[in-house]
Amino acid sequence: LIRFRGVTKRYGPLTVLDNLDLDVERNEKVAIIGPSGSGKSTLLRVLMMLENIDDGVIEVGGEPLTHMDRNGTLVPASESYKRNGRRNIGMVFQNFNLFPHMTALENAIEAPRKTLGLTKQAATERGVELLDMVGLSDKLDHYPSQLSGGQQQRVAIARALAMRPQVMLFDEVTSALDPELCSEVLNVIRRLSDKHDLTMLMVTHQMGFAREFADRVCFFSEGKIAEQGTSEEIFGSPKHERTQAFLSAVM
Ligand code: ATP
Ligand code: MG
Repeated sequence: LIRFRGVTKRYGPLTVLDNLDLDVERNEKVAIIGPSGSGKSTLLRVLMMLENIDDGVIEVGGEPLTHMDRNGTLVPASESYKRNGRRNIGMVFQNFNLFPHMTALENAIEAPRKTLGLTKQAATERGVELLDMVGLSDKLDHYPSQLSGGQQQRVAIARALAMRPQVMLFDEVTSALDPELCSEVLNVIRRLSDKHDLTMLMVTHQMGFAREFADRVCFFSEGKIAEQGTSEEIFGSPKHERTQAFLSAVM
């Protein structure tokens, strides 16, 4: 479903993604782990088309996110192409990013109404159903400031799902949360991955969750995947020296 080939992303002199290849199958659950600054968030951001890449190809469902001009130079996608491509992908960030002046329900129905053109009634029905699924049916009319961090994050997940994406990206969605709130959010993600046909890429520092959740674990180091495998392989018998060092430092 998702294919990265030779993807390079630089910020000035810094190469953040370095000739990266990655394939993700439909419905696959992939955990991305690795040291700070290794390019994990950038990987999700280029897939969400929040950043343009400098070289290589990214395809989602066979559609390239960038084009080449006649000279072989990469041309970033137009804004309308990006908007369209993003419909397929939901992203949840570390810091919730809810609209502060909207209630939980309004947050969840905003995008489908605007970009999918759903009627208010249809979007509301779907929003109520999703907020119920994340365990917040009693908080529909609460504003973000009236919700705990874990509740806000669950609204953010419901909001991303409201677009009926094929792919969900999670970037350290629990790292701003206390442990007990964290497990609420992880339970929602667990339930999602059991019940729905969703391809998921999750950047996480929670090795226990990565181990249990992921079909495949990718260890990032310096803008590349240094090692990847099943969670048994990566956590049980990591081969790369950097993976071993990283895991023994964090576990
Ligand atoms: P962490 O685990 O700390 O979240 P990460 O693996 O997600 O790290 P990225 O956020 O992808 O790392 O950043 C990779 C590198 O790119 C870092 O060195 C960062 O400073 C740099 N970087 C990220 N965004 C920008 C930007 N907009 N401008 C310049 N440099 C950036
Ligand atoms: Mg990051």
